[in-house]
Amino acid sequence: MRDKDNITERQGNKCWKCGDPAVIHRKYEGKSWCSEHFTEQFESLVKGTIRENDLFESDDKVCVALSGGMDSSALLFFLSDLFKDWRNADLFALAIDEGIEDYRDESIEIAEELCRDLGVDLHIASFKEAFGKTLDEIMEDKEYGCTYCGVLRRWLLNRKSRELGATKLATGHNMDDELQSIFMNYLRGNMNRMVRLGAKPAVLDNEKFIPRVKPFRDTPEREIALYGRLRGIDLHQTECPYVDNSLRFDVRDFLNDMEAKRPSTKYTSLRAFDKLLPALQNMFSGDDSSVKECDFCGEITSGDICKTCQLREKI
Ligand code: SF4
Ligand SMILES: [Zn+2]
Ligand SMILES: [Zn+2]
Repeated sequence: MRDKDNITERQGNKCWKCGDPAVIHRKYEGKSWCSEHFTEQFESLVKGTIRENDLFESDDKVCVALSGGMDSSALLFFLSDLFKDWRNADLFALAIDEGIEDYRDESIEIAEELCRDLGVDLHIASFKEAFGKTLDEIMEDKEYGCTYCGVLRRWLLNRKSRELGATKLATGHNMDDELQSIFMNYLRGNMNRMVRLGAKPAVLDNEKFIPRVKPFRDTPEREIALYGRLRGIDLHQTECPYVDNSLRFDVRDFLNDMEAKRPSTKYTSLRAFDKLLPALQNMFSGDDSSVKECDFCGEITSGDICKTCQLREKI
């Protein structure tokens, strides 16, 4: 079978550092790693992303957006370990319950179990409570899908994490997510959204906005999955019934094919974007005076009424 991400978990290979059996061979660097050295190197790379981008302050109160999927679960695991040595920092998790029968119930159970094991407080905010309807009920009338769900989700994450006193909102976005977003925004010509990418997206100058951070942004998805498995994290495998990411999936397949044919394409294109980003931000960021507060809900928006309130009218 073709190895789409150039990461092969093989038996028979030896770790280049210690000679123990390898759990992964990375074609893009030509090395195999055993579980111990892979885990050690994975964690050190993520710490490098955190350090280079100044993702956290020593007294931050960090909210991890926890979906029950592998990326955010592995992130919570990693940060709960890292923050043990940070005496003034605090960490908690926030799960959004959109109200998707069977799918979200199962992932919330996994999130609860993980938080119990790690001793991390978990808060749950639901669409039903915030918007009066579950996603299942919203979907009964109209075909909304991910874009709309994402708008409501971001609104709720920002408001709830702020109410809980968070100073940062950490998400499990990985290198593959980031590259897909870069290419999608490019294909759509959406430069204003493209310049809001990065491990520490530009902060809006408004106290109602909780700054986002993405510690796994330089890490391939499949390596996070391997790290999570090696750390014993349970995986939520069911797919959301409303997923409609056709452009994202096309871009994902294109990038995976390119990586299979030309190992390290993903790394080089992400690094190229990082070099361009400061110049793009100067050209397309606009100024913060365009950040207003929504006439209805008071959350930040670029117009008079935020997208969430416009949607609420319809649903
Ligand atoms: S896959 Fe799309 S519709 Fe489903 S929870 Fe995620 S954003 Fe919402
Ligand atoms: Zn080794
Ligand atoms: Zn609003």
